[in-house]
Amino acid sequence: MDCLFCKIVSGEIPSKKMFENDDVLAFYDIDPQAPFHVIVIPKAHISGANKINSENSIVVAKVFEAIAIIAKENNLENGFRVVNNCGEDGGQTVNHLHFHLLARRNLSWPPG
Ligand code: AMP
Ligand code: ZN
Repeated sequence: MDCLFCKIVSGEIPSKKMFENDDVLAFYDIDPQAPFHVIVIPKAHISGANKINSENSIVVAKVFEAIAIIAKENNLENGFRVVNNCGEDGGQTVNHLHFHLLARRNLSWPPG
């Protein structure tokens, strides 16, 4: 399958990994938007948040369990933001479900 993040999971495309378990991979974003910017993905291919259903939604729980571990291990006690972009209007550019974990700067709200 021609999917960038599946190729990162398989190792075909290199990444700077920062967390991995059986279900989840996290790696540093190549174009960071904050001093701490990690992409957290399920290893299983799901094209986006609009394709979550009762059969596959367990991966979302696994991603958020990983996020809590990453936050603890990286001393993000001051807080962080988790972002999912979905579809064209949401600004999604890679069609493999992923969550941006952003931290170490004051993140404005509402987002632009
Ligand atoms: P989105 O725009 O929400 O689909 O996010 C895709 C993200 O993947 C962007 O923040 C990109 O900078 C990031 N990205 C694209 N290619 C790579 C790569 N090879 N390694 C790490 N991050 C990447
Ligand atoms: Zn994929």
